[in-house]
Amino acid sequence: MDLEARLAELDGQGLRRRRRVLESAQGTRVTVDGKTYLSFASNDYLGLASHPAIAAAACEAATRYGVGASASHLLTGHHALHQRLEGELAAFVGRPAALLFATGYMANLGVVTALVGRDGALFADRLNHASLVDAALLSRAEHVRYRHLDLGHLEELLRASRAKNKLIASDTVFSMDGDLAPVAKLLALAEKYNAWLYLDDAHGFGVLGEGGRGVLHSYPALLTPHPALIYLATLGKAAGVSGAFVAGSETLVEWLVNKARTYIYTTAAPPMLAAAVSASLKLIAGEPWRRQQLQRLMAQLKAGVARLPWPLLPSDSPIQPLLIGGNHEALRLADGLLERGILLPAIRPPTVPEGTARLRISLSAAHTEAELAQLLTALKELA
Ligand SMILES: *Cc1c(COP(=O)(O)O)cnc(C)c1O
Repeated sequence: MDLEARLAELDGQGLRRRRRVLESAQGTRVTVDGKTYLSFASNDYLGLASHPAIAAAACEAATRYGVGASASHLLTGHHALHQRLEGELAAFVGRPAALLFATGYMANLGVVTALVGRDGALFADRLNHASLVDAALLSRAEHVRYRHLDLGHLEELLRASRAKNKLIASDTVFSMDGDLAPVAKLLALAEKYNAWLYLDDAHGFGVLGEGGRGVLHSYPALLTPHPALIYLATLGKAAGVSGAFVAGSETLVEWLVNKARTYIYTTAAPPMLAAAVSASLKLIAGEPWRRQQLQRLMAQLKAGVARLPWPLLPSDSPIQPLLIGGNHEALRLADGLLERGILLPAIRPPTVPEGTARLRISLSAAHTEAELAQLLTALKELA
Protein backbone atom coordinates (compact mmCIF):
# COMPACT_ATOMS: atom_id res chain seq x y z
CA MET A 1 0.00 0.00 0.00
CA ASP A 2 2.55 2.58 1.11
CA LEU A 3 4.42 3.31 -2.11
CA GLU A 4 6.65 5.97 -0.51
CA ALA A 5 7.98 3.39 1.93
CA ARG A 6 8.43 0.80 -0.78
CA LEU A 7 10.37 3.24 -2.93
CA ALA A 8 12.55 4.10 0.07
CA GLU A 9 13.21 0.38 0.49
CA LEU A 10 14.36 0.17 -3.15
CA ASP A 11 16.65 3.14 -2.47
CA GLY A 12 18.15 1.32 0.50
CA GLN A 13 18.91 -1.74 -1.64
CA GLY A 14 20.47 0.31 -4.41
CA LEU A 15 17.61 -0.80 -6.68
CA ARG A 16 15.77 2.45 -7.31
CA ARG A 17 15.64 3.24 -11.01
CA ARG A 18 15.61 6.70 -12.52
CA ARG A 19 15.19 7.76 -16.10
CA ARG A 20 17.66 9.91 -17.95
CA VAL A 21 16.36 12.36 -20.50
CA LEU A 22 17.92 11.97 -23.93
CA GLU A 23 18.00 15.28 -25.77
CA SER A 24 19.91 14.28 -28.91
CA ALA A 25 19.48 11.57 -31.51
CA GLN A 26 20.38 8.07 -30.31
CA GLY A 27 23.98 7.18 -31.11
CA THR A 28 27.46 6.85 -29.67
CA ARG A 29 27.55 10.58 -28.75
CA VAL A 30 24.42 11.54 -26.89
CA THR A 31 23.19 14.54 -24.94
CA VAL A 32 21.57 13.53 -21.69
CA ASP A 33 20.22 15.98 -19.13
CA GLY A 34 22.16 18.80 -20.80
CA LYS A 35 25.54 17.06 -21.01
CA THR A 36 27.20 15.19 -23.85
CA TYR A 37 28.49 11.66 -23.29
CA LEU A 38 30.17 8.84 -25.12
CA SER A 39 27.53 6.11 -24.85
CA PHE A 40 27.86 2.33 -24.62
CA ALA A 41 24.29 2.00 -23.52
CA SER A 42 21.98 1.53 -26.49
CA ASN A 43 20.96 -1.49 -28.56
CA ASP A 44 21.80 0.40 -31.74
CA TYR A 45 24.30 -2.29 -32.72
CA LEU A 46 24.64 -1.27 -36.35
CA GLY A 47 24.47 2.49 -35.82
CA LEU A 48 21.22 2.74 -37.79
CA ALA A 49 18.87 4.37 -35.24
CA SER A 50 19.44 7.87 -36.58
CA HIS A 51 20.49 6.98 -40.12
CA PRO A 52 19.32 9.70 -42.55
CA ALA A 53 18.08 7.24 -45.20
CA ILE A 54 15.81 5.57 -42.64
CA ALA A 55 14.56 8.90 -41.31
CA ALA A 56 13.90 10.05 -44.89
CA ALA A 57 11.87 6.91 -45.66
CA ALA A 58 9.78 7.51 -42.53
CA CYS A 59 9.24 11.20 -43.42
CA GLU A 60 8.23 10.40 -46.96
CA ALA A 61 5.72 7.80 -45.80
CA ALA A 62 4.37 10.16 -43.14
CA THR A 63 3.88 12.88 -45.73
CA ARG A 64 2.00 10.50 -48.02
CA TYR A 65 0.02 8.46 -45.54
CA GLY A 66 0.05 10.39 -42.26
CA VAL A 67 1.31 9.02 -38.99
CA GLY A 68 -1.47 7.15 -37.25
CA ALA A 69 -2.69 3.75 -38.46
CA SER A 70 -5.92 4.58 -36.62
CA ALA A 71 -7.19 0.99 -36.50
CA SER A 72 -6.07 -2.52 -35.68
CA HIS A 73 -4.75 -4.78 -38.44
CA LEU A 74 -8.00 -6.73 -38.63
CA LEU A 75 -10.10 -3.60 -39.14
CA THR A 76 -8.56 -1.00 -41.47
CA GLY A 77 -5.09 -0.52 -39.95
CA HIS A 78 -3.26 -3.06 -42.13
CA HIS A 79 -1.52 -0.86 -44.68
CA ALA A 80 0.11 -1.81 -47.99
CA LEU A 81 3.44 -0.77 -46.41
CA HIS A 82 2.93 -3.37 -43.64
CA GLN A 83 1.97 -6.00 -46.20
CA ARG A 84 5.01 -5.27 -48.37
CA LEU A 85 7.35 -5.28 -45.38
CA GLU A 86 6.05 -8.67 -44.21
CA GLY A 87 7.00 -10.11 -47.60
CA GLU A 88 10.43 -8.49 -47.44
CA LEU A 89 11.08 -9.75 -43.92
CA ALA A 90 10.03 -13.31 -44.75
CA ALA A 91 12.35 -13.32 -47.77
CA PHE A 92 15.14 -11.70 -45.76
CA VAL A 93 15.18 -14.40 -43.07
CA GLY A 94 14.31 -17.21 -45.50
CA ARG A 95 10.95 -18.31 -44.10
CA PRO A 96 7.66 -18.69 -46.03
CA ALA A 97 5.74 -15.95 -44.18
CA ALA A 98 6.07 -13.20 -41.60
CA LEU A 99 3.75 -11.22 -39.35
CA LEU A 100 4.49 -7.78 -37.87
CA PHE A 101 3.80 -6.93 -34.24
CA ALA A 102 3.98 -3.49 -32.63
CA THR A 103 6.77 -4.55 -30.24
CA GLY A 104 8.78 -7.63 -29.37
CA TYR A 105 7.16 -7.74 -25.96
CA MET A 106 3.73 -7.95 -27.54
CA ALA A 107 4.89 -10.50 -30.10
CA ASN A 108 6.10 -12.81 -27.34
CA LEU A 109 2.86 -12.48 -25.39
CA GLY A 110 0.84 -13.04 -28.56
CA VAL A 111 2.72 -16.02 -29.98
CA VAL A 112 3.06 -17.98 -26.75
CA THR A 113 -0.57 -17.51 -25.71
CA ALA A 114 -1.78 -18.42 -29.21
CA LEU A 115 0.17 -21.69 -29.22
CA VAL A 116 -0.02 -23.06 -25.68
CA GLY A 117 -2.80 -22.83 -23.11
CA ARG A 118 -3.85 -24.63 -19.92
CA ASP A 119 -3.15 -28.07 -21.34
CA GLY A 120 0.22 -27.02 -22.79
CA ALA A 121 3.72 -26.51 -21.48
CA LEU A 122 6.31 -23.84 -22.17
CA PHE A 123 9.90 -24.99 -21.74
CA ALA A 124 12.05 -21.94 -21.15
CA ASP A 125 15.68 -21.18 -20.54
CA ARG A 126 15.99 -19.63 -17.09
CA LEU A 127 17.63 -16.51 -18.51
CA ASN A 128 15.01 -15.81 -21.17
CA HIS A 129 13.82 -12.24 -21.60
CA ALA A 130 11.17 -10.97 -19.17
CA SER A 131 8.56 -10.82 -21.95
CA LEU A 132 8.77 -14.61 -22.38
CA VAL A 133 8.31 -15.09 -18.64
CA ASP A 134 5.23 -12.88 -18.71
CA ALA A 135 3.98 -14.71 -21.81
CA ALA A 136 4.19 -18.00 -19.93
CA LEU A 137 2.15 -16.61 -17.02
CA LEU A 138 -0.45 -15.13 -19.34
CA SER A 139 -0.80 -18.38 -21.31
CA ARG A 140 -1.56 -20.40 -18.15
CA ALA A 141 0.51 -23.19 -19.64
CA GLU A 142 2.79 -25.09 -17.33
CA HIS A 143 5.98 -23.01 -17.12
CA VAL A 144 8.91 -25.40 -17.12
CA ARG A 145 12.23 -23.62 -16.76
CA TYR A 146 15.49 -25.36 -17.55
CA ARG A 147 18.95 -24.37 -16.35
CA HIS A 148 20.62 -21.83 -18.61
CA LEU A 149 21.80 -23.56 -21.83
CA ASP A 150 21.51 -26.99 -20.13
CA LEU A 151 20.09 -29.24 -22.86
CA GLY A 152 20.42 -32.36 -20.72
CA HIS A 153 18.09 -30.74 -18.21
CA LEU A 154 15.72 -29.65 -20.98
CA GLU A 155 15.57 -33.17 -22.41
CA GLU A 156 14.78 -34.66 -18.98
CA LEU A 157 11.90 -32.23 -18.60
CA LEU A 158 10.60 -32.85 -22.14
CA ARG A 159 10.71 -36.61 -21.63
CA ALA A 160 8.71 -36.33 -18.39
CA SER A 161 6.07 -34.00 -19.83
CA ARG A 162 2.49 -35.13 -20.50
CA ALA A 163 1.47 -31.79 -21.98
CA LYS A 164 -0.66 -31.82 -25.12
CA ASN A 165 1.21 -28.95 -26.81
CA LYS A 166 4.82 -28.23 -26.09
CA LEU A 167 6.73 -25.07 -26.91
CA ILE A 168 10.42 -24.59 -26.25
CA ALA A 169 11.33 -20.90 -26.08
CA SER A 170 14.80 -19.44 -26.00
CA ASP A 171 16.56 -16.17 -26.56
CA THR A 172 19.23 -16.69 -29.22
CA VAL A 173 21.54 -14.03 -27.74
CA PHE A 174 20.85 -13.62 -24.02
CA SER A 175 20.18 -9.96 -23.40
CA MET A 176 22.03 -9.48 -20.12
CA ASP A 177 24.87 -11.96 -20.76
CA GLY A 178 25.46 -11.79 -24.49
CA ASP A 179 26.02 -15.56 -24.81
CA LEU A 180 24.40 -17.64 -27.56
CA ALA A 181 21.87 -20.49 -27.39
CA PRO A 182 22.79 -23.82 -29.08
CA VAL A 183 20.11 -23.29 -31.67
CA ALA A 184 20.64 -26.37 -33.88
CA LYS A 185 20.64 -28.70 -30.86
CA LEU A 186 17.49 -27.06 -29.52
CA LEU A 187 15.78 -27.73 -32.84
CA ALA A 188 16.85 -31.39 -32.79
CA LEU A 189 15.32 -31.75 -29.31
CA ALA A 190 12.13 -29.99 -30.38
CA GLU A 191 11.73 -32.37 -33.32
CA LYS A 192 12.50 -35.43 -31.20
CA TYR A 193 9.84 -34.52 -28.61
CA ASN A 194 7.27 -33.12 -31.00
CA ALA A 195 7.52 -29.59 -29.66
CA TRP A 196 7.68 -26.21 -31.33
CA LEU A 197 10.90 -24.24 -31.03
CA TYR A 198 10.41 -20.49 -30.63
CA LEU A 199 13.61 -18.51 -31.10
CA ASP A 200 13.73 -14.91 -29.91
CA ASP A 201 16.47 -13.34 -32.03
CA ALA A 202 15.98 -9.79 -30.69
CA HIS A 203 19.73 -9.28 -30.35
CA GLY A 204 20.79 -11.43 -33.29
CA PHE A 205 18.78 -9.98 -36.16
CA GLY A 206 20.96 -7.60 -38.18
CA VAL A 207 24.10 -8.82 -36.43
CA LEU A 208 24.30 -12.62 -36.75
CA GLY A 209 24.32 -14.73 -39.89
CA GLU A 210 25.23 -14.05 -43.48
CA GLY A 211 24.19 -10.48 -44.37
CA GLY A 212 22.81 -9.90 -40.86
CA ARG A 213 19.87 -12.17 -41.69
CA GLY A 214 19.78 -13.48 -38.15
CA VAL A 215 20.68 -16.59 -36.21
CA LEU A 216 19.10 -19.09 -38.63
CA HIS A 217 21.65 -17.99 -41.21
CA SER A 218 24.49 -18.98 -38.91
CA TYR A 219 23.39 -22.62 -39.29
CA PRO A 220 22.88 -23.81 -42.89
CA ALA A 221 20.91 -26.81 -41.60
CA LEU A 222 18.23 -24.50 -40.21
CA LEU A 223 17.47 -22.96 -43.57
CA THR A 224 15.66 -26.05 -44.87
CA PRO A 225 11.95 -26.23 -44.02
CA HIS A 226 11.32 -26.98 -40.33
CA PRO A 227 7.62 -26.71 -39.52
CA ALA A 228 8.43 -26.79 -35.78
CA LEU A 229 10.63 -23.72 -35.98
CA ILE A 230 9.20 -20.28 -35.19
CA TYR A 231 11.44 -17.25 -35.53
CA LEU A 232 11.03 -13.90 -33.84
CA ALA A 233 13.12 -10.78 -34.37
CA THR A 234 12.66 -7.28 -33.06
CA LEU A 235 13.12 -4.16 -35.16
CA GLY A 236 14.02 -1.65 -32.44
CA LYS A 237 17.56 -2.91 -31.83
CA ALA A 238 20.03 -3.48 -34.68
CA ALA A 239 17.40 -2.48 -37.27
CA GLY A 240 17.18 0.91 -35.55
CA VAL A 241 13.41 1.39 -35.87
CA SER A 242 10.66 -0.21 -33.76
CA GLY A 243 8.43 -3.27 -33.78
CA ALA A 244 8.94 -6.99 -34.27
CA PHE A 245 8.03 -9.81 -36.59
CA VAL A 246 7.39 -13.51 -36.34
CA ALA A 247 8.42 -15.71 -39.26
CA GLY A 248 7.37 -19.27 -40.04
CA SER A 249 4.90 -21.20 -42.13
CA GLU A 250 1.89 -19.60 -43.86
CA THR A 251 -0.30 -21.67 -41.56
CA LEU A 252 1.41 -20.32 -38.47
CA VAL A 253 0.89 -16.73 -39.61
CA GLU A 254 -2.76 -17.45 -40.43
CA TRP A 255 -3.24 -18.92 -36.94
CA LEU A 256 -1.61 -15.92 -35.26
CA VAL A 257 -3.74 -13.46 -37.25
CA ASN A 258 -6.75 -15.28 -35.83
CA LYS A 259 -5.57 -16.00 -32.31
CA ALA A 260 -2.75 -13.73 -31.13
CA ARG A 261 -4.56 -11.28 -28.87
CA THR A 262 -1.71 -8.76 -28.83
CA TYR A 263 -1.98 -8.66 -32.62
CA ILE A 264 -5.75 -8.41 -32.76
CA TYR A 265 -6.59 -6.00 -29.94
CA THR A 266 -4.16 -3.19 -30.57
CA THR A 267 -3.70 -0.37 -33.06
CA ALA A 268 -1.38 -1.22 -35.94
CA ALA A 269 2.01 0.48 -35.78
CA PRO A 270 2.27 3.63 -37.92
CA PRO A 271 2.84 2.63 -41.58
CA MET A 272 5.76 5.09 -41.68
CA LEU A 273 7.63 2.68 -39.40
CA ALA A 274 7.19 -0.10 -41.95
CA ALA A 275 8.71 2.17 -44.60
CA ALA A 276 11.58 2.90 -42.21
CA VAL A 277 12.23 -0.82 -41.64
CA SER A 278 12.25 -1.46 -45.41
CA ALA A 279 14.98 1.18 -45.73
CA SER A 280 16.85 -0.33 -42.80
CA LEU A 281 16.84 -3.83 -44.38
CA LYS A 282 18.67 -2.44 -47.40
CA LEU A 283 21.38 -1.00 -45.16
CA ILE A 284 21.65 -4.16 -43.04
CA ALA A 285 22.23 -6.34 -46.09
CA GLY A 286 24.14 -3.80 -48.17
CA GLU A 287 26.69 -2.54 -45.64
CA PRO A 288 28.64 -5.50 -44.26
CA TRP A 289 31.28 -3.07 -42.93
CA ARG A 290 28.98 -2.47 -39.99
CA ARG A 291 29.26 -6.08 -38.83
CA GLN A 292 33.00 -6.09 -39.57
CA GLN A 293 33.48 -3.02 -37.39
CA LEU A 294 31.62 -4.79 -34.55
CA GLN A 295 34.02 -7.74 -34.85
CA ARG A 296 37.03 -5.42 -34.65
CA LEU A 297 35.62 -3.67 -31.57
CA MET A 298 34.89 -7.00 -29.83
CA ALA A 299 38.48 -8.12 -30.35
CA GLN A 300 39.79 -4.78 -29.07
CA LEU A 301 37.58 -4.93 -25.97
CA LYS A 302 38.55 -8.52 -25.09
CA ALA A 303 42.23 -7.69 -25.37
CA GLY A 304 41.78 -4.45 -23.40
CA VAL A 305 39.96 -5.82 -20.34
CA ALA A 306 42.69 -8.35 -19.61
CA ARG A 307 44.37 -5.64 -17.48
CA LEU A 308 41.22 -4.94 -15.43
CA PRO A 309 40.12 -6.60 -12.15
CA TRP A 310 36.69 -7.51 -13.54
CA PRO A 311 36.04 -10.27 -16.10
CA LEU A 312 34.00 -9.94 -19.26
CA LEU A 313 31.31 -12.61 -19.52
CA PRO A 314 32.04 -14.93 -22.47
CA SER A 315 30.21 -13.38 -25.41
CA ASP A 316 30.59 -13.21 -29.17
CA SER A 317 27.82 -10.68 -29.54
CA PRO A 318 27.83 -6.87 -29.27
CA ILE A 319 26.58 -7.32 -25.69
CA GLN A 320 29.76 -7.50 -23.61
CA PRO A 321 28.98 -7.44 -19.89
CA LEU A 322 31.73 -6.62 -17.41
CA LEU A 323 30.89 -8.56 -14.25
CA ILE A 324 31.20 -6.35 -11.14
CA GLY A 325 29.19 -8.21 -8.45
CA GLY A 326 27.70 -5.85 -5.85
CA ASN A 327 24.97 -3.33 -6.66
CA HIS A 328 26.66 -0.43 -4.92
CA GLU A 329 30.05 -1.15 -6.47
CA ALA A 330 28.50 -1.31 -9.94
CA LEU A 331 26.70 1.97 -9.30
CA ARG A 332 29.92 3.63 -8.08
CA LEU A 333 31.71 2.54 -11.23
CA ALA A 334 28.90 3.79 -13.46
CA ASP A 335 29.04 7.13 -11.61
CA GLY A 336 32.82 7.28 -12.08
CA LEU A 337 32.41 6.70 -15.80
CA LEU A 338 29.71 9.35 -15.97
CA GLU A 339 32.11 11.87 -14.39
CA ARG A 340 34.54 10.98 -17.17
CA GLY A 341 31.92 11.64 -19.83
CA ILE A 342 30.98 8.00 -20.48
CA LEU A 343 27.45 6.66 -20.27
CA LEU A 344 27.40 2.98 -19.31
CA PRO A 345 24.68 2.24 -16.78
CA ALA A 346 24.94 -0.54 -14.20
CA ILE A 347 22.53 -3.46 -14.63
CA ARG A 348 21.30 -4.74 -11.28
CA PRO A 349 18.86 -7.27 -9.85
CA PRO A 350 16.09 -8.13 -10.49
CA THR A 351 17.14 -7.72 -14.13
CA VAL A 352 20.13 -10.01 -13.38
CA PRO A 353 20.65 -12.52 -10.51
CA GLU A 354 21.64 -11.26 -7.05
CA GLY A 355 25.38 -10.65 -6.71
CA THR A 356 25.99 -10.34 -10.46
CA ALA A 357 25.51 -6.61 -11.06
CA ARG A 358 27.36 -5.64 -14.17
CA LEU A 359 28.30 -2.93 -16.60
CA ARG A 360 26.64 -4.03 -19.81
CA ILE A 361 28.84 -2.70 -22.57
CA SER A 362 26.86 -2.43 -25.80
CA LEU A 363 29.05 -2.06 -28.82
CA SER A 364 27.86 -0.34 -31.96
CA ALA A 365 29.28 -0.26 -35.47
CA ALA A 366 29.20 3.51 -35.02
CA HIS A 367 31.85 3.34 -32.26
CA THR A 368 35.41 4.09 -33.32
CA GLU A 369 38.42 2.25 -31.96
CA ALA A 370 39.48 5.53 -30.29
CA GLU A 371 36.16 5.75 -28.45
CA LEU A 372 36.49 2.21 -27.15
CA ALA A 373 40.05 2.98 -26.06
CA GLN A 374 38.65 5.93 -24.09
CA LEU A 375 36.31 3.58 -22.20
CA LEU A 376 39.15 1.16 -21.45
CA THR A 377 41.34 3.99 -20.13
CA ALA A 378 38.55 5.25 -17.87
CA LEU A 379 37.93 1.74 -16.48
CA LYS A 380 41.61 1.35 -15.75
CA GLU A 381 41.67 4.63 -13.81
CA LEU A 382 38.65 3.54 -11.78
CA ALA A 383 40.17 0.15 -11.00
C1 LIG B 1 14.24 -6.26 -26.33
C2 LIG B 1 13.77 -7.67 -26.28
C3 LIG B 1 12.42 -7.98 -26.44
C4 LIG B 1 11.36 -6.93 -26.51
O1 LIG B 1 11.37 -6.28 -27.72
P1 LIG B 1 10.72 -4.83 -27.85
O2 LIG B 1 10.48 -4.66 -29.29
O3 LIG B 1 11.72 -3.90 -27.28
O4 LIG B 1 9.46 -4.86 -27.04
C5 LIG B 1 12.06 -9.31 -26.50
N1 LIG B 1 12.99 -10.28 -26.37
C6 LIG B 1 14.28 -10.01 -26.15
C7 LIG B 1 15.25 -11.14 -26.02
C8 LIG B 1 14.71 -8.69 -26.10
O5 LIG B 1 15.99 -8.42 -25.89
